[in-house]
Amino acid sequence: CFITFEGGEGAGKSTQIGRLKNRLQQLDHSTLVTREPGGSPRAEEIRAFLLGGHAKHLGPFAEALLFAAARIDHLDKTIVPALKNGVHVLCDRFADSTRAYQGSVGNIDKTLIDQLERVTLRGVKPDLTFILDLPAEVGLARARARQAGKGEGADRFEDEDVSFHQSLRQAYLSIARADPGRCVVVNADQAPDEVEAAIWAALRERLPR
Ligand code: C5P
Repeated sequence: CFITFEGGEGAGKSTQIGRLKNRLQQLDHSTLVTREPGGSPRAEEIRAFLLGGHAKHLGPFAEALLFAAARIDHLDKTIVPALKNGVHVLCDRFADSTRAYQGSVGNIDKTLIDQLERVTLRGVKPDLTFILDLPAEVGLARARARQAGKGEGADRFEDEDVSFHQSLRQAYLSIARADPGRCVVVNADQAPDEVEAAIWAALRERLPR
């Protein structure tokens, strides 16, 4: 099945994806971990452009088109072939990121985002989406600590303030409200073991096979 992980900066997506992958592999499920933007060679090139600061002056709609272009390649080259082979795909961010970042925070009209999503996904939809939810201040502090630890400056998107993180959080919660059959909101403001247990329980409940 196709499982995506969403959330603001510092929500702990990559930690949880790694843990879920281990659990699935222990049960002998073949599992592929991938990410957006990126996940295929061409899409990784688009990622480097988007995150490298070059896209700064494009504006949210042009940016959304680049994210969509990367997503099309990622779907065609990586995600769809894996799903066809019976491999579980765990993806770090997907179309909901465009809806939240470029759509809600970047103020792109919802109809336009819906249309863009339809032509980009062409019917492929995650079976389950975990939205790792965190108070804006906590996410911001975690993202900053991570960057300081790596000795890096903020990337194009992480260099934002608390109000940006607040709108992002609200955007994700409204995505979850609009599609409760697919989205599970997980409290990410707790220890990694507890987040992992909540994710595992939800997965077992929703996708028992
Ligand atoms: O998940 P990760 O933090 O690595 O994502 C890379 C960056 O791209 C993030 O800072 C995120 O804010 C940004 N992004 C975005 N719009 C998307 C997807 C990711 O602004 N559609």
